Amino acid sequence: MDRNTVIQNDNDFIMHTYGRLPLVPDHASGASIWDKNGKKYIDFTSGIGVNVLGYSDSGWSQAVFEQATKYQHVCNYYYCEPASALAEWLVKTTGLENVFFGNSGAEANEGAIKLARKYSFDKYGEGRNTIITLNKSFHGRTVTTLAATGQDVFHQYFFPFTDGFKYCDAGDLDALNAACTADVCAVMLEVIQGEGGVNILDKDYVQAVAALCEKKDILLIVDEVQTGIGRTGKPFAFQHYDILPDIVTSAKGLAGGLPIGAFISGKKAASTLGASAHGSTFGANPVCAAAACYITGKLTDDFLASVENKGKLIEEKILAAGCENVVSVRRLGMMIGIQIKDLPKDRLLKAFDLGLLVLTAGKDVVRLLPPLNISMNELDEGISLLIEALS
Ligand SMILES: *Cc1c(COP(=O)(O)O)cnc(C)c1O
Repeated sequence: MDRNTVIQNDNDFIMHTYGRLPLVPDHASGASIWDKNGKKYIDFTSGIGVNVLGYSDSGWSQAVFEQATKYQHVCNYYYCEPASALAEWLVKTTGLENVFFGNSGAEANEGAIKLARKYSFDKYGEGRNTIITLNKSFHGRTVTTLAATGQDVFHQYFFPFTDGFKYCDAGDLDALNAACTADVCAVMLEVIQGEGGVNILDKDYVQAVAALCEKKDILLIVDEVQTGIGRTGKPFAFQHYDILPDIVTSAKGLAGGLPIGAFISGKKAASTLGASAHGSTFGANPVCAAAACYITGKLTDDFLASVENKGKLIEEKILAAGCENVVSVRRLGMMIGIQIKDLPKDRLLKAFDLGLLVLTAGKDVVRLLPPLNISMNELDEGISLLIEALS
């Protein structure tokens, strides 16, 4: 199909839910992607934090291919080797107890919400089902995870939303204390709000939230859909905070480019979901799980240290360029937010025209989520383009 037909068909036959930029990929490798018209882009988005090892990593492709040629799917009535290996990594790495697999971040969060509500129902009976989330959060696009998302713009059109959510400002411990009434069963948060602006929560605040939850037997759910799988220089971002959540959710980067989601439970709720309590046809599909095993196997201490080093280098280069509209750089590992004074939409178009793919977050933040194994050449090339676009 030629380039124009792809665009025309998309316009004609796909719902217009995304504002697309005119990139029609032909092929890609590492952090570089080529349009069908031959133009090359440096990709600092990783497909929104998905392509942990960039495009077409040879080991990853091999793992996918090998599993696809063995068997591509079995139903959940039977065992699955890649899923059981991945579960072991997730449980041992988080220090939690067991895992349920689905296909996306929204599903992982929805499952975590169900788990927290049933835990509370089993122990305290009806009426203790409210979940507190934070303003500027993002938890997904299902009717329930939209309700969980603490941004009014997401609470439109699709009424009625799922009841039982209330919202507090990040960092406001008094507000959270006041919100923790007898009907509350869980607090759900991202330790770095990704879509909301790369807002890094304070360590003191997160630790106080964890302590409050522990005291009141309220489950702490940490949404690691964007922050997990090495993005911040640790396997999971909560590990920067010296806390142990009751439930952790993961998706996006977990399989490095194939759909998978997971919620991982600690001791408290590990036996809450028994036979038939939850399910998913594709959850931990063998090909996706094999891809995830390959990705998680790459997250060695050395690799994670290189993530932090590269993130630091990017931050230093941006600050050294002295662009006067750069207000600040917020960063942990390679999860990077550059706050821009009066961020105009065409600034991003300028980056795109120059051959650089970046994301935005919140109102005034350029967000970078480069592949974690990005080469130094691509990193330098991308940063030069970014500085040119910001100047
Ligand atoms: C992307 C994202 C989600 C939703 O994930 P999907 O796979 O799109 O459903 C949920 N939470 C956070 C923090 C995210 O960044």
